[in-house]
Amino acid sequence: MTSHMVHLNSGFDMPIMGYGLWNISQETCATQVYNAIKAGYRCLDGACGKELHYGNEREAGQGVARAIEHGIVRREDLFIVSKLWGTFHDPPHVRPSIDRQLSEWGLEYFDLYLIHFPVSLKYVDPSERYPPGWAAQNTNLVEVTNVPIGNTWYAMEALVKENLTRSIGVSNFNIQLLRELICRARIPPAVLQIEHHPYLTQERLVNYCHSQGVAITAYCSFGPQSSVAGKLKDSFSFSSLLEHPSIKGIGRAHGKTPSQVLLRWSTQRGISVIPKSGNLPHMQQNLDMDWSLTSEQIEIISSLDQGKRFNDPVEHGFDLPIFD
Ligand code: NAD
Repeated sequence: MTSHMVHLNSGFDMPIMGYGLWNISQETCATQVYNAIKAGYRCLDGACGKELHYGNEREAGQGVARAIEHGIVRREDLFIVSKLWGTFHDPPHVRPSIDRQLSEWGLEYFDLYLIHFPVSLKYVDPSERYPPGWAAQNTNLVEVTNVPIGNTWYAMEALVKENLTRSIGVSNFNIQLLRELICRARIPPAVLQIEHHPYLTQERLVNYCHSQGVAITAYCSFGPQSSVAGKLKDSFSFSSLLEHPSIKGIGRAHGKTPSQVLLRWSTQRGISVIPKSGNLPHMQQNLDMDWSLTSEQIEIISSLDQGKRFNDPVEHGFDLPIFD
């Protein structure tokens, strides 16, 4: 049986199963977070971001507060993740950004704070616009700035020393960037969060991170599912992984749903997951990890790899080919 926790190089443990907060409306977020905690989720994955349809950190914090008030959990039972957006990469903006996010959540510290994307964007004062997005207001124009990622990382390290976050990490980085970071870091990244599903297995990146003691969290575990919901054209040409005959067949053999197979394929290999659903049976289904795929079944699923990325700013209409 796989452990339900991933031990991080920071010394802390992160639940291998978490609940993602992307695309949850402000109206439903507090209740959804409360229900997720009640169902058994102990890790919550949030961010500030606009086009990314988060913008719900205040409401997520209200859900957490309600769960604590009702005696379901204590703060220390939860592992709360948030992310630094690109407009705040310049070191003087890093501390105010986490301060604001913590205050929205109503928390004193995050368990993990990630650099969301490895690209620095023109600063937007929160009094002008918050949460910020990829582009200048009402346009698709992305304005990048020249803040070296190492400078942002040093400011992230300072947050650990100030007890504002217990661990720090990155998201959407490749091996070249990780190398640069690991060379410079006084505190190595604890986690890399990446898009990861059978159409995009990124095996070399996963193996490299594990060899360096960097834990991986997978997002978009169901592949095109959330992009189809977001109406990205290209995602329609890929058959849903939840309907894929191999995934369904493996699920049938274990009496499990395709979503459970997809999540188990990750967690059984030590990769944590953060699926999200507002549907209570789905939420409960996704938590079920006390069963195992055979190594042959893991290989069959991994062989579906097509190197296909769905969460690419270019696909969302922004001229920012960061994954090329
Ligand atoms: P997801 O894994 O949450 O899947 C999304 C879709 O699957 C939703 O439409 C949901 O309703 C459906 N679904 C969930 N459980 C199901 C089940 N059991 N059966 C059938 N359908 C089910 O994908 P996601 O939202 O793209 O990603 C998960 C989380 O990852 C996000 O909430 C967010 O926290 C994080 N994320 C991070 C980044 C990043 O850049 N770091 C990018 C995207 C997402």
